[in-house]
Amino acid sequence: MKTNLKRSSKKQSLPYRRIPERSCVACREPKAKRDLVRLVCSTGTVEIDPKGKKTGRGAYLCPVRECWEIGLKRNRLEYALRTKLTMENRQALVQYGNSLPSGRDNRG
Ligand SMILES: [Zn+2]
Repeated sequence: MKTNLKRSSKKQSLPYRRIPERSCVACREPKAKRDLVRLVCSTGTVEIDPKGKKTGRGAYLCPVRECWEIGLKRNRLEYALRTKLTMENRQALVQYGNSLPSGRDNRG
């Protein structure tokens, strides 16, 4: 005996929550704010702002090495922050980027 299979299309109602989203200046991927590293340009120096509390123009990067490389090598960060990085400033940020894990390692 066959039962009439009614297509039960369960509508998944996703609870829409307003998560503050920002996009990485390197890969442009929108992510939750807390999944990105904030950088702030204050008094001509670009600083890493782990708590997101500093005032000034901010830009975001994924906490992965690749994004920092792109952000720094292609001057995306400078462009986003409308500033020019000094050699030391750039060096410090490159170093920070190098300390981050590679995003390719644990993806997929
Ligand atoms: Zn990114």
